[in-house]
Amino acid sequence: MFEIEIVPALSDNYVYIAHDAAAGATAVVDPAEAAPVLAALERRGLRLTHILNTHHHLDHIGGNAELVERYGAPVIGPRADAARIPGLDVEVGDGDTYTVGSQTAADAARIPGLDVEVGDGDTYTVGSQTARVFDVPGHTSGHIAFWFEESRALFCGDTLFALGCGRMFEGTAEQFWSSLGKLRALPDDTRVFCGHEYTQSNARFALSVDPDNEALKAASRRIDDLRSRGERTVPSELGEEKVANPFLRADDPAMQRLVGMEGEAPEAVFAEIRRRKDTF
Ligand SMILES: [Zn+2]
Repeated sequence: MFEIEIVPALSDNYVYIAHDAAAGATAVVDPAEAAPVLAALERRGLRLTHILNTHHHLDHIGGNAELVERYGAPVIGPRADAARIPGLDVEVGDGDTYTVGSQTAADAARIPGLDVEVGDGDTYTVGSQTARVFDVPGHTSGHIAFWFEESRALFCGDTLFALGCGRMFEGTAEQFWSSLGKLRALPDDTRVFCGHEYTQSNARFALSVDPDNEALKAASRRIDDLRSRGERTVPSELGEEKVANPFLRADDPAMQRLVGMEGEAPEAVFAEIRRRKDTF
C-alpha cells in the first residue's frame, strides 16, 4: 500500500507524495513547485524515485526540473502530451500499466534477506505498486489519470474534482464525458486525489443545480465544516462522487430533468452543466 501525503502548493494545488516503504519507492504526483516537496521529503528522510505527471499545465509540472536535478528520478507522463512536458522519460497512455517500485541492483542489494543475484546495471522489482493508466482528455487533450488499485488511489489531476470537474480548455464535451465515464467505472471505495482544493465552490454550484440531493447536502455541510477549520477536503470517495457530483450524472434522468434536458444525449447535458459552472 502507498502511504500518501498531501502537500499543498501554490495557492490551491495539491501535490501528492506516495511512499511504499517495502519497495523503497517514493513517487510525487504533479509537483506544482519543488520547494514544498523537497521540504516534505527531507523532513521524512525520503529519496524521491518517481515523478508522475497527469498533464502539461505548469501548475502540475513546475517542480519537475528541480526534483530531477536533485534526485535523478524519471518523469512519467502522458504520451499524447509528450511534446509539451520537457524532460519526459516514460510516455504512458490508455490501457498501459506502470509500476512504481523498481530499484537498481545496488539498492536492492542493500535490503536485508533478499536472495537474489544482481549485477551491474540490473534492475529488480522490490515490492511494487502498479498503476493502470487512463487517457482522460477534456481539460487538456493529453490528460491522463493513474489508478493504483491496491492503494484505492486515483490521481486524476484536473479531470475530476471533488464535486466538480476541470475546465474544458482543449477537449470536447464528448471527450470529457467519455473520460469521466472511465473514472466513474472504478470502485466506490476509490479515493479521489485531485489537483486542486476547489471543493467548497464546487459544492455551491452543485447545490444550485441539484438543491434537494441529500448526499450532496450532507457532503456540503461536511465540506463547509472542514473549510471553516482550514482543513482540506481531499481525497473524496468515488462512491459519493457518483451520487453527488453533477458532472458524473449527465446520463441520469433525474439530473437531466433538473437542467431541463430529459432524454437528451449525455454529452450535451454534460456540456450544459459545464457551461453553467463556467458562468456561475
Ligand atoms: Zn490543469
